Amino acid sequence: MDKPFIFINSAMSADGKLSTKERKQVRISGKQDFERVDELRAQADAIMVGIGTVLADDPSLTVKSPERRATRKAEGREENPVRIVVDSSARTPLDADIFKKGEGKRIIAVSKSAPSEKVGDLEKKARVIKTGEERVDLPELARELKKIGIGTLMVEGGATLNWGMLSAGLVDEIYTFAGNVIIGGKAAPTFADGEGFTEAELLKLELLSAEPIEEGILLKWKVKGKRN
Ligand code: NAP
Repeated sequence: MDKPFIFINSAMSADGKLSTKERKQVRISGKQDFERVDELRAQADAIMVGIGTVLADDPSLTVKSPERRATRKAEGREENPVRIVVDSSARTPLDADIFKKGEGKRIIAVSKSAPSEKVGDLEKKARVIKTGEERVDLPELARELKKIGIGTLMVEGGATLNWGMLSAGLVDEIYTFAGNVIIGGKAAPTFADGEGFTEAELLKLELLSAEPIEEGILLKWKVKGKRN
């Protein structure tokens, strides 16, 4: 395999929305799901988000439980997985929480046309990987990540990055928690935005499990590939 094992984990409303039309983080799941996600983070080598999520929510993407961080340390790993932002134009703010909070490596994935001054500033805070001319080339990035030792990559959204990863055929498994709210609205991000597939291109999944959690349901899917 020349890429990591890649899974997407997202919380969405019963109608498949990742957040509201205000495009800001919204609480969809409860404590039990929060712990499940923290455990997934603790197991991963790296966590990836799109620049849209950094600009909207400013997540730190750290492992929250001190016990889980201590376990990672005891295993000879850093307290937090490598945190990766997919950011073609190097727009990640230098005071973003991923830089301020928690120990561990950061990677900003930019395109070859990202302004060199911004890239230089980010290089003081993170490793910068350049792929693609105008936009980050996700398959090439995945290969680079594998080369530097990332075996398991957790993608935490948002809607556009999920689509990018899925449409590039890079995703092995998908975990969605569907919570007991309706968000609605065509401007609200869905699990996978972007252009969308035609009927001939649909991605086929295999259901691995369906588990009620609190007042929602956790669905685990394996991605099988193009339906036809
Ligand atoms: P996003 O998916 O986080 O980031 C998308 C950006 O990534 C693109 O606009 C693009 O910006 C960059 N990118 C670079 N190369 C790409 C490629 N090859 N394919 C796809 N994207 C690429 O942003 P979003 O769609 O606006 O989603 C953010 C929303 O999702 C927020 O409302 C946030 O709250 C929500 N969210 C929810 C969850 C959840 O689990 N419920 C999780 C995360 C986020 P450049 O062209 O500038 O590089």
